[in-house]
Amino acid sequence: MSDRAKTEKSKELFDRAKESIVGGVASTLHKSEYEEYPIYIERGKGSKLYDVDGNEYIDYMGGFGPMILGYCPPAIGEAVIEQIAKGSQFAAPTESLNDVSKKLTEIIPCADVVSYQGTGTEANMVIFRMVRAYTGKDKIIKFEGHYHGWSDEEMISFAPDSVKMMGPRIKPWKTLGSAGQLVKATEDIIVLPWNDLALVQKTLKRQKHEIAAIITEPIMCNCEVVYPKPGYLEGLREVTAENDVLLIFDEIITGFRLSLGGAQEYYKITPDICSFGKAVAGGFPLAGVAGKREIVGADVHPVGTFNANPISIAACKATIKELEKPGVYDRMARLTRRLTEGIKAIAKKRNIILYCEGVASIWQVAFGLRERMNDFRDNFGVNKSDYQIFRKGCLERGIRLHPSRGRFYTSAAHTDEDVHRTLFVVDEVLSQISKRQN
Ligand code: PMP
Repeated sequence: MSDRAKTEKSKELFDRAKESIVGGVASTLHKSEYEEYPIYIERGKGSKLYDVDGNEYIDYMGGFGPMILGYCPPAIGEAVIEQIAKGSQFAAPTESLNDVSKKLTEIIPCADVVSYQGTGTEANMVIFRMVRAYTGKDKIIKFEGHYHGWSDEEMISFAPDSVKMMGPRIKPWKTLGSAGQLVKATEDIIVLPWNDLALVQKTLKRQKHEIAAIITEPIMCNCEVVYPKPGYLEGLREVTAENDVLLIFDEIITGFRLSLGGAQEYYKITPDICSFGKAVAGGFPLAGVAGKREIVGADVHPVGTFNANPISIAACKATIKELEKPGVYDRMARLTRRLTEGIKAIAKKRNIILYCEGVASIWQVAFGLRERMNDFRDNFGVNKSDYQIFRKGCLERGIRLHPSRGRFYTSAAHTDEDVHRTLFVVDEVLSQISKRQN
């Protein structure tokens, strides 16, 4: 069965969309370069999505991260509907905003206070301002392959096409992510490869008088998945503290996903300030900043028409309540383990080289690798064409994976039955890949 035979209506809709939407989609990532057209979704329920052609998929994309409770979780729906009946936007605070904010300061280890934005891009933009306002210094260290948003200063050295474009590892070139991006926006951003503490130490020794902060994803989730080397995050915490440089965790993905308190709780390393978004409101748009009172409150005034809008706040309150229920994180981690252990065993049986690991509800498959990656440059060793064969084979059999990179999410709505079905499909697809290879 080809993609096309089963998904004709998606194709028709995409052909029409191109007439009125630039590129045919609202976010570039809604259609990957590997797809002729995206699958149009009609509805979701629990761990499943249903497309406009009537196909059912077990979904591991989680709407790019927010759907930690699965699709249409009843508790979130009820809370949102209740708020809609009262009003969706007031240009005024509500009592619920106080409740949620207090709760966030209790949950997030670095949070004395919080501040709100609508998206992760904005949250990190305002953090850049805060750390500059607080320290009086301008430069920020970011790492190759880390995504913090699409603004001029954030989207630097995010996804260069080749190692050649990246320059020498110890002094990488800065690459731009978009036409129209200001070259001068790179002036105050220092780019380094990730997972190399010695290089950070050297850079801080030389330039600490002008460096305000280091921003990092605690787990690098935006190429394939790259985990911090043992001691690396601890090392970043120590060297930043020693050199009067602030440590920013971008927890837009890891927040509320690795654990309720994010990567900082999971790894027991407290940054000075962090961003949060995606999973915090179970599928509604909410993002923000949490951190030390003197940094978050450093005379920077976040604005935004829809900041902490009542609907998202209602969704956030209900999401936290669901995530706090006993056993939710353990269950997601157990299902993730069943998936990764199962896939590893199948790959071994089928003689296919792939790296498959997970942490909490984040997991990955990287074809062609025997070992974990250490930085963005290692991701060029992944066999992307095998991944595409794998992804398409899974999609045709009702398993929806990320269209361009092997990073997946388990949700609280996934079941043992889903895992069983997924492993059955993976076995079938890997057997085909094995036949092609051997
Ligand atoms: N930081 C990280 C780590 C992300 O993964 C993303 C989005 N993928 C962002 C920031 C930007 O968030 P948003 O898309 O909500 O602007």
